[in-house]
Parts: sequence; C-alpha cells; structure tokens
Amino acid sequence: MVAPAASPVRVTLLPGDGVGPEVVAVGREILRETAARFSLAMEIGEGCIGLAALERYGEPFPVATQEEVSRSRAVLLGAVGGEQVGQAEYARRPEAGLLALRRSMGLYANLRPVRVPDALVPLSALKPAVVQGTDLVVVRELLGGLYFGQPRGRGRNEHGEEMAWNTMVYTASQVERVARNAFELARTRRRSVVSVDKANVLEVGLLWREVVDRVHADYPDVSLSHQYVDNCAMQLVRDPRQFDVILTENTFGDILSDEAAMLTGSIGMLPSASLGSAGTLYEPVHGSAPDIAGLDIANPVGTVLSVALMFRYALSCPEAARCIETAVDQALSQGYATRDLSTDGRKWVGTREMGERILEGIRQS
Ligand code: NAD
Repeated sequence: MVAPAASPVRVTLLPGDGVGPEVVAVGREILRETAARFSLAMEIGEGCIGLAALERYGEPFPVATQEEVSRSRAVLLGAVGGEQVGQAEYARRPEAGLLALRRSMGLYANLRPVRVPDALVPLSALKPAVVQGTDLVVVRELLGGLYFGQPRGRGRNEHGEEMAWNTMVYTASQVERVARNAFELARTRRRSVVSVDKANVLEVGLLWREVVDRVHADYPDVSLSHQYVDNCAMQLVRDPRQFDVILTENTFGDILSDEAAMLTGSIGMLPSASLGSAGTLYEPVHGSAPDIAGLDIANPVGTVLSVALMFRYALSCPEAARCIETAVDQALSQGYATRDLSTDGRKWVGTREMGERILEGIRQS
C-alpha cells in the first residue's frame, strides 16, 4: 500500500472516437477502483480529441484540451479516427490531433509490452510451445528517423519520371535518450536488451549501434546484444521468449511491434506507454475500430493494461499495476473474453461486462 498523497494527482482522459469512449469508460472505472484500493488521491479530468473535437471545436486538438493535458500527470487516450477521414485536408483530419498531442508532450519513446497469458496461448497464431511464456517489451524511438527526416517529398527526376523521397536521420542524442530508457527498463525486468538496426547497410544503423554501445557502458549489469532488423523479424516468430527488451528506431519499431502484437491473438489486448519531455501518454495499440463502435463488443483489455502501465510509470505504484494485470489474467483464465478472442468457441461477453469481471478481481485482491 502507498501512503495517501498530499494533493491529488491529476489524470486526463481523452476518449476520442469510435470504440475509444467505450474502452476509456472501462479504463476510468479501473483507474478509480485501483486508486481507491491503493489509497492514491486522484482527480480525473477529460478532454476532446480527434473527430469528436473537430465536431465540437472545429479542430482536432483544441486549446481547451491542450490546457487540460498540460495540467495533468498522465493522459489516457482511447483512439482517434473515423470512416469519413479520407476526404478531409490533413490539418483537419482526426489523426492530426493525435500527432499534435504527441508533439506537445514531446513523446520520444514508445513502450509496447507483449505478454501472452496462459489463457491466451491457444489463440496465438504460433504453436503453444513457441509462444508460452512470452514476455517482452518493444521500446521504439518515436520522434526521429524516416517519419520526420528532411528532405522529404515527391516530384519528377530529370527524365520526367515520378519519384518520391524520405530521409532516415538520427542525432546521437536522440539515440542516447531512448537507449537510456531501454536500459533503465531492463533493470526492472530480466536485464537484457537486444538493440535492432540495419548497421550492415545503413549509416544510421552504424551510428545507432555505436551510441547504444557507449550508453551500455553505464549499465554493466544489463546484457546487450545487437540484431539486424530482418533477423529480429524472423526471431520474433521463431523464438519470442529469447527477448526481454527490444530497442529500436521509429520505422523498424512500428513494424516489429505490430508483428509482436499478434503473438497474443488480438490487437485489442495490447497496451502502450509513451514517455516524453512534458508528460506521459497511455493508450491501447488499436485504432478507433469504426466497424464495431457502439456495439459493446470492443475488447477493453488493451486500455485496462494501459492503465496498469500508468500506475507503474507515471504514478510510481507498481503494486497497483500488478494488481490490475493479475485481475486481467484471472478474468481470462476464468473463461471471460470479448468477441475477438472467442475464435476457439469460448463464450464471449461485452465490453462493459469484461470490465466488470476485471473490476471484481481488483476488489477481491
Ligand atoms: P483498428 O485498430 O481501428 O481496427 C483494425 C481491426 O481490429 C478492425 O477489424 C477492428 O474491429 C479490430 N479491433 C480494433 N480494436 C479492437 C478492439 N479493442 N476489440 C476488438 N477488435 C478490435 O485499425 P484501422 O481499421 O486500420 O483504423 C481505423 C481508424 O483508427 C482509422 O481512422 C485509423 O486512422 C485510426 N487509428 C487510430 C489509432 C490511434 O488512435 N492510436 C491507431 C491506429 C488507427
């Protein structure tokens, strides 16, 4: 148990669009119940983002939301985006709100834990013997590399042929800060980091490897090895249990973390945490899932486990995080699951009821 805080910590909820409000409603109950259970005084605020904000304020990340976010210790986001996204100009797309939020918080490291609870082993696309016991975290650099590098653009070459270009660029300090996060995280786990690059082909990969090696000198208690990204993609499905912390740059992390996500059987299961210079953001990995919005069938577990990460990283209460994670495992092993996990014929429950079952576990812990 933690001692009661002198003043309440403020947490902001940004439900967003599609299934976002449904899964964040479950997240709010989990936050409340767990904070009460661990005597943590908490204030919960709420803001508008994405399509919901466009409809109400005419912009996807309005000033009122920016102010709300700047006052809080941590943010829980549902998802943004809807079906009518395609036609809108870029700045008025819901996704622009998410990028503006990430920029405003200086989020440079994205952590995606992938743990396969025993109850979900049969649902994985991999053989049980391969996937059982998987427990890894992908640490992805979020503000550098191909997605942000200049120059970028489209045009025509001297022969009039259409062409397009992007630039992969990293500074040593960008690599260093995310590497420190990965080594610090490894110290709270099994003390092993695999750094992933393409140093055999890319200069960026060479710099990445050199800087990671230099930072490693400060963490002699953590083991470090390097893998090329193509090998890592293969190792993730060959033997995922070899990994503890995977550290990688933006584009490789985008791809490898989605690959790792499927080890659990459903994208609805996965949480994430993004760490930044001006706050931390917690969100499920999935999008707004407009095809199932409003039907009470979305899996809330990714959001619930994101709340667990918030307790661990932003609220310094790892015992609360473990309590939530245990309650999720218990609900799943008692046979409760949402529709996306019912491929093996198990009976499924709705979003709200799944949330209730997890809350029950927290209350009984
Ligand atoms: P998606 O993740 O929304 O959906 C992909 C598939 O997974 C769909 O079949 C959906 O029904 C299913 N799914 C997603 N979440 C689920 C859950 N919790 N429970 C059960 N099933 C779930 O991805 P998409 O269809 O490519 O994108 C839809 C919208 O979401 C787009 O507008 C996209 O831009 C946006 N998006 C937002 C984020 C974010 O907010 N971080 C991330 C990805 C996509």
